[in-house]
Amino acid sequence: MLKIKNYILEQKLKNPKEPFCAYLYDCSALREHVIQVKRSLPDGCQLFYAVKANSQAKIIETLAPLVDGFEVASYGEIEKVRAIDSNIPLIFGGPAKTDAELRGAIEKKVRYIHVESLHELYRLHEIASSLEAKVSILLRVNLHSPLPSGQLQMAGKATQFGIDESQIPNVLEKLKEMSFLQLHGFHFHSMSNNLDEEAHVRFVSLCIEKAQQWAMDYDVPLSVVNVGGGIGVNYNEVDQQFHWSDFTNQLKQVLKEKEPCPGIYFECGRFLTAACGYYAVEVLDIKQNHGKWFAVVRGGSHHFRLPAAWKHSHPFAVLAIDHWSYPFPRMEISQVPATVAGELCTPNDVLAREVKVERLRLGDIFIFQYAGAYGWDISHHDFLSHPYPEMIFLE
Ligand SMILES: *Cc1c(COP(=O)(O)O)cnc(C)c1O
Repeated sequence: MLKIKNYILEQKLKNPKEPFCAYLYDCSALREHVIQVKRSLPDGCQLFYAVKANSQAKIIETLAPLVDGFEVASYGEIEKVRAIDSNIPLIFGGPAKTDAELRGAIEKKVRYIHVESLHELYRLHEIASSLEAKVSILLRVNLHSPLPSGQLQMAGKATQFGIDESQIPNVLEKLKEMSFLQLHGFHFHSMSNNLDEEAHVRFVSLCIEKAQQWAMDYDVPLSVVNVGGGIGVNYNEVDQQFHWSDFTNQLKQVLKEKEPCPGIYFECGRFLTAACGYYAVEVLDIKQNHGKWFAVVRGGSHHFRLPAAWKHSHPFAVLAIDHWSYPFPRMEISQVPATVAGELCTPNDVLAREVKVERLRLGDIFIFQYAGAYGWDISHHDFLSHPYPEMIFLE
């Protein structure tokens, strides 16, 4: 954070009149975090990065030498990664793949395609045989068992994702006649933003048990169990984060009990990139309406939709800026709850609601933390046609 603050202060000195609005990424912090995450994984585990969390070229470039590969969810993401690395392993999922995407994925040599339905399986086999290509797949399963809860739930209930657990036997039968498809295992990504380490260990354990059972009952090969991503970031209590090392220590035990264990793939997004990113915006106005304080900033949910989408107050720090260039007094509030609103013409453009600020003046800068995942990438950038934030990557 210090590095980020110093950079902003430097920029404001150079250009005091330009309202500050930027995403800032600490690339060395990202590198250290991912090295640490990967180092503590048990043997036999591989770490993939889910590109949709943040698909900036510089982020992909920083991660490429550190992860085992990338999880991609569209042909566009395949191209983004391949523009940076023509060989790194890719695994390709998503509920609505077109024929062109499936063909493109085969041509771009993805390692596995995660098949999401029986119809998709038929289509993929058709395409594979027309190209005379042997295609390696995992079946994406929507499990029935109670699964750990997260902010978003992709399986364990009725959703558009994966193949219903009860239909796996039928799909495995059909697969036996599809000579161009080679099954390697199962894919289970089921939730996002789980903060409970023990529940996540139980989830991984369940995935392995299910996969091993199917492999035995239906005599199919099993070399990979992909347990997806879903490791959470605590936006409400920032000092209580998911304890990755507790998780991996317990996981080591579980994997030992399940030997011989297939390879375990993780495809994490949020947990890898959230912490390295900051969204910093300057206070343009302070006002009181109906008895409540509002700080209005240059920026908002069109750059950083996450807090509006999840209806939470996003954690922030206030950076005091000393410069004041107007000939009239500078507005200031202190020790009061304030709502941080953006520049859009909608009351939904709120980044934090009624959060107590120690001291806030016009021209100060809010620095929103944990903005490196599902920040810029999920936002509606062009609504109202305001300028984009600067994208700054610090070493
Ligand atoms: C989004 C997604 C991920 C990454 O999820 P996180 O919660 O960011 O870790 C992994 N796998 C699939 C299939 C996804 O759709």
